[in-house]
Amino acid sequence: MMLNKLNLSAEIIVVGSGPGGATVARELSKLGKNVLLLERGYDHRRKFYYGTYLGAIRYSDRASLLFTEEGLNIIAPIMLGGATSMYAGCAAQPPGWLKNKYGIRTDLEVRQTIEELNIKPLPEHLRGEASTRIAQAAQALGYNWFPQPKFMNPARCKNNEKSYTCQASCMLGCRCGAKWNAAEWVDEAVANGARLSKGVRVRKVLCKEGHVIGVEGTFHGRKFSASAQTVILAAGGIGSARILQNSGLNAAGVGMTMDTTVMIYGATREKGTGKEPPMTWSWENPEEGYMLSTLMDPWLLYPLAAIRKGIGPALRWLQWHKMLGVMIKLKDDISGGIYPDGKIRKPMTASDHERLKHAYEVCKKILIEAGAKKSSIFMRPFIGTHPSGSVRIGDMLDDNLQTEIHGLYVCDASVFPEALDRPTVLTIIGLGKRLAKYLINK
Ligand SMILES: Cc1cc2nc3c(=O)[nH]c(=O)nc-3n(C[C@H](O)[C@H](O)[C@H](O)COP(=O)(O)OP(=O)(O)OC[C@H]3O[C@@H](n4cnc5c(N)ncnc54)[C@H](O)[C@@H]3O)c2cc1C
Repeated sequence: MMLNKLNLSAEIIVVGSGPGGATVARELSKLGKNVLLLERGYDHRRKFYYGTYLGAIRYSDRASLLFTEEGLNIIAPIMLGGATSMYAGCAAQPPGWLKNKYGIRTDLEVRQTIEELNIKPLPEHLRGEASTRIAQAAQALGYNWFPQPKFMNPARCKNNEKSYTCQASCMLGCRCGAKWNAAEWVDEAVANGARLSKGVRVRKVLCKEGHVIGVEGTFHGRKFSASAQTVILAAGGIGSARILQNSGLNAAGVGMTMDTTVMIYGATREKGTGKEPPMTWSWENPEEGYMLSTLMDPWLLYPLAAIRKGIGPALRWLQWHKMLGVMIKLKDDISGGIYPDGKIRKPMTASDHERLKHAYEVCKKILIEAGAKKSSIFMRPFIGTHPSGSVRIGDMLDDNLQTEIHGLYVCDASVFPEALDRPTVLTIIGLGKRLAKYLINK
């Protein structure tokens, strides 16, 4: 839909089409609500470059070169479907503390999603030889690694299950169709009657006497505004905080979480993990606050990351196909934040460093047990794929995800009250379905 009419109205405006926005738009439109979905990015799914290195440059914020002031590289896709266009397709149940400590129940919604999307681990023969070797080495050391449930269904692969050849590069965008993407639920929302406008950047929400009345922003450089009595911000961990700041809610973006991520690599004489689907085996350590999984940078991205660690790690590129990779995802403390001057800060706290050190030692042991040469093991620079916790439940949002402005809700990774320390998407979908139910019943 073109925004050539600069004034639009709807019953409900949803901003952003990642898993948060796509879920609420789909659920509300299914029940006959008049929904307008505004998305900053475009739909790249059927473009020749989708799922390639060129694509990742084209649709990631700042061409994949978005860095915090501390040098952490944030990957934030700006496109239809949000970050599910580049995710590793892992599904994790919401953490118990979300219900027990914050009273946020999504059990029913999550169960329903698992059934709907047929979420389960990849069959044994598709989990990857090297990844399975890592998991077995970890198990031999007493760490109970499990096959990671996935939003990937090999039966959906365009060719057929036999030619299912997902590798680390599937994180550039899924080319075979096996991986679920939130854009599919946007398609459903549109089929249900929702109106979708792409290339629309919402800047702020409009309010009158404590009640939301709409949003304003730009579309192809032109100003536009749209009115609604209910607005749901789902512009992601960075986007929603920025919109709220522009709207005068200055507590937004003060502190954030990232599930700071890093891979530990080691070279072997055998096959490596790079040509295998990402994150097929995982292990959670809730006591120390980190998660481990099998993961490798795609071939061309590996040297770009490794060079920041020195020439030795970069030269291991020549052995990429024989490298093993274990990812650490850290439950980082709330720190730094999204600043009104445009900067993002995410300093590691002393406790973050301490727990990271612990995780690194465990990874080293596992890699050595799996056949990696001790002298080849190194840690790549930090990345952030889960910008989150910037508009937290309990601080800025009530249990129903409503802000202090009546009718203004937030439903995306920014609402997490603490770092989730696990794949986020299933939790976000659960929250989206729960919010849709609340709004319908209201
Ligand atoms: C490489 C990578 C791997 C990952 N792997 C996994 C995984 O395996 N499993 C998992 O569960 N999670 C994974 N994640 C994380 C997960 O994808 C994100 O946490 C999740 O998609 C966040 O959802 P969201 O709805 O909060 O926001 P997003 O998915 O970020 O969507 C926000 C949307 O809002 C749009 N937007 C932003 N600003 C505006 C604005 N001003 N106006 C209009 N629209 C706007 C954006 O274009 C985007 O489409 C991964 C992420 C990355 C980058």
